[in-house]
Amino acid sequence: MVLDPAQEGVKRPRMAGPVADVYDCVVVGSGPGGGTTAALVAQQGGKTLLIDRDPMPRFHVGESLMPETYWTFERLGVLEDFRRIAFTRKYGVQFVSGDGKESRAFVFAEHESRASAMTWHVERAELDCLLFDTAAKHGADCRDMTRVLDFRLKEPGEEYHEVTLQLHDGQRRTVRTKVLVDASGQQAMIANRLGLKHVDPRLKKAAIWGYFADAERQPPEEPEVTCILHTEDKQAWFWYIPLSDGRVSVGAVGDNEYLLKGGMTPEDKFQWLREHCPGIQRRLRNATLTTNLRVAKEFSYTTSQRAGDGWVLVGDAYGFIDPVYSSGVYLALKSGEWAADAIVDGLRAGDVSAERLGRWTAEFDQGVHWIRKLVHAFYCNEFSFGAFMKQHPQYGQNLTDLLVGKVFEGDPGRIFQDLDPWIEKSKALGRDCSMADHGAMAMSESAPDAFLC
Ligand SMILES: Cc1cc2nc3c(=O)[nH]c(=O)nc-3n(C[C@H](O)[C@H](O)[C@H](O)COP(=O)(O)OP(=O)(O)OC[C@H]3O[C@@H](n4cnc5c(N)ncnc54)[C@H](O)[C@@H]3O)c2cc1C
Repeated sequence: MVLDPAQEGVKRPRMAGPVADVYDCVVVGSGPGGGTTAALVAQQGGKTLLIDRDPMPRFHVGESLMPETYWTFERLGVLEDFRRIAFTRKYGVQFVSGDGKESRAFVFAEHESRASAMTWHVERAELDCLLFDTAAKHGADCRDMTRVLDFRLKEPGEEYHEVTLQLHDGQRRTVRTKVLVDASGQQAMIANRLGLKHVDPRLKKAAIWGYFADAERQPPEEPEVTCILHTEDKQAWFWYIPLSDGRVSVGAVGDNEYLLKGGMTPEDKFQWLREHCPGIQRRLRNATLTTNLRVAKEFSYTTSQRAGDGWVLVGDAYGFIDPVYSSGVYLALKSGEWAADAIVDGLRAGDVSAERLGRWTAEFDQGVHWIRKLVHAFYCNEFSFGAFMKQHPQYGQNLTDLLVGKVFEGDPGRIFQDLDPWIEKSKALGRDCSMADHGAMAMSESAPDAFLC
């Protein structure tokens, strides 16, 4: 049964009906990771339960997508829905320096000929709800307003895990499942229980963000892009993501200590940063904040084990790097897709061992490793895309591949053979490029590429 909570006027589940006692696969969390896993396991014949504690659609941060998301959306069959929903099209990325210098946008299509060269800025409530509905369409039993209260992982020799749920009407039910997928996002249900979560000491960041009406948009003839704008003191950066409902998602990211400690409220700190970021000041000149500001911190971590006997992690429950290159949703989709194939293979073979369910994780980790290295470079004051690329223009395509998310094919780590020593040399020379210089260098007329130099 499909209900429309908006029409009902009260919080009602989007999907309801009796819960079965036994499943092949229970997926906890219906973000991009969980929605994808459930859809693909169900599509391939697995009896699947997808649950989320929130009513769908539900709010979530993370609106800017990476181009390589295209292929999972194509496999899920939702590209046609994207056209109907008319999400804002994202054609590239633009960097703006701390003194307000605007780089020419890096337009993906100038470097990437595949259909994925164009991507989207999405309202996450709509995207995640679309994936929830898609999982239902493919045959998964989908429940929102249904929370995992507890779970017991199976002992050796047992066939099923037990998952205790609180249903939308408050009733408790325990279901049994051969495979348990943790797609609970930053709740990281299994990793927290088993002590597998490790915060990245180099990325102790926080974010303060909100949604603005009447903020500046690109003129119609200009391609819409995600902007990364640095503050004057080079200690923080803003994201600027124009959405299809006319609003713009604007968030500040900086070290936890810098952003949230020091005596200012998040509201005052956001305002202060806004006043000290010329690029944002201009864009928000006539804008009105339409929501409360929200805060997130300590969101960057990794996990030391990604699969066990009959369980597997996907999306943020597996790990999260940083918002700067918009890789979160992409990695949630990709891990969801690969986990689903491993689950189906394991169920068919009657072998849902850690080895079988986690067979994809080494390759996944290798790709994530290259994105993480580029994130570390971004936050390194001795690094400048521009200065590096001027000396090493041969890496133009390689850098493009990293920025669009093409990290699971070819040789995406090649660039680091020269980039790592370049950063070390810069440190030894005491060169302070600072993150603000990524944009400033993009202004250089002698540069072989507008963004890259
Ligand atoms: C500040 C910030 C900015 C970001 N910006 C971007 C961006 O621009 N682009 C991008 O690609 N990514 C961005 N991200 C990352 C992105 O939001 C995540 O990577 C992505 O949402 C992960 O998807 P997921 O499916 O793993 O988890 P989620 O989308 O978090 O979904 C997890 C779901 O699990 C449910 N859940 C949790 N516990 C339970 C329980 N006990 N029972 C039932 N359900 C439960 C939750 O309700 C939730 O719906 C950003 C992240 C942060 C912190």
